[in-house]
Amino acid sequence: MKVLVLNCGSSSLKYQLFNMEDESVLAKGLVQRIGIDNAYLEHRPGEDAPKVTIEDEIPNHTRAIQLVIEALLHNEHGVIKDMTEINAVGHRVVHGGEAFAGSVFITDEVIKALEANVELAPLHNPPNIVGVKVCEELMPGVPQAGVFDTAFHQTMKPYAYLYGIPYEYYTEHGVRRYGFHGTSHRYVSKRACEIMGIPYDKAKVITCHLGNGSSIAAVDGGKSVDTSMGFTPLEGVLMGTRSGDLDPAILPFLMRKENMDADQMDNVLNKKSGMLGVSGISNDSRDIEAAANEGNERAKITQDMFCYRVKKYIGAYAAAMGGVDAIVFTAGIGENSKPARAGILEGLEFLGCKFDPEKNNTRGKEALISTDDSKVKAYIIPTNEELVIARDTKEIIEGLNI
Ligand code: AMP
Repeated sequence: MKVLVLNCGSSSLKYQLFNMEDESVLAKGLVQRIGIDNAYLEHRPGEDAPKVTIEDEIPNHTRAIQLVIEALLHNEHGVIKDMTEINAVGHRVVHGGEAFAGSVFITDEVIKALEANVELAPLHNPPNIVGVKVCEELMPGVPQAGVFDTAFHQTMKPYAYLYGIPYEYYTEHGVRRYGFHGTSHRYVSKRACEIMGIPYDKAKVITCHLGNGSSIAAVDGGKSVDTSMGFTPLEGVLMGTRSGDLDPAILPFLMRKENMDADQMDNVLNKKSGMLGVSGISNDSRDIEAAANEGNERAKITQDMFCYRVKKYIGAYAAAMGGVDAIVFTAGIGENSKPARAGILEGLEFLGCKFDPEKNNTRGKEALISTDDSKVKAYIIPTNEELVIARDTKEIIEGLNI
């Protein structure tokens, strides 16, 4: 079975074609600047194959997906001979709200439910829905599945997902913690248990997905019991440009002081805060690390803030679960930044986690970074959301018996 995985953003589209017999990547790529000038597609006919760049007018997602299909079928850099070789399409969908606690076969009812969730994810869900509709048009009859960023966290209990505001805001407007990066937290927590050789349903794992957007999750017995992102992906730790946790009273205070309306305030918190806002240098942790190494004080404070806040969540989630077996690092910063992992894990011996600086001297691949005798294990586990989407899609399609 061949499964095409699509991740449609507002102006970009990522894709991977999997051969599910051996879970190999037949092709992968990225369309950038959809609806903007100088659009292009970067295509690789295989996981490590050199990339082919195709420049074209790409006014919308229909054209973008058409180009992807053309690249997959191309007589030089293509990997399939016929469209019918694609057995199913799996879509990454950001927000499933409370309607979806797992991945689903996409029907007209599902599309309606997704449209009902647009208010909860106004930037993300619309391009996801467009991707589904374009595939229906270009690949009629090919079954499609939706895999949600929020679904894994639907196991949280009300005491973890409710906010301390009037209950009616939850029942009337759906204001609650949803959590994001669920596909990634699910993959790396499960993988940690495979590496440790302990059953997933018996393990307590804290997963740190640290990238441009970051979230921490507490996974107890294979179920997410808490996570740092909330109603939106703004809550939690310090991120590239997002503030993370702050006293909500700061919002009306600043809106009055700086004469900002709600949209302007929202823009400051999402686009101008976090590492960028505190450092005044960049949202990229590599730039912050370089500046801190050159003695820049604000860069140093930014690094310390980032590590301190992640460390606090680890402590909180260990308490929430009554213990922890493993702490996992994933995504851009988690997989690659040695100083970030060191700053987070140093001083956690009281919790049973002994950090090993030697073992931490690696990046981008699965590795144990705690000492061999550490009671609580710490790992780097590169995330693979596309593979999870492909696996879920295969399972759903096989279950349909078509
Ligand atoms: P992601 O959102 O998962 O793509 O992660 C993006 C973040 O990962 C950015 O802040 C990058 O600076 C960070 N990152 C990527 N590579 C490295 C690296 N070698 N060292 C430190 N941070 C990195």
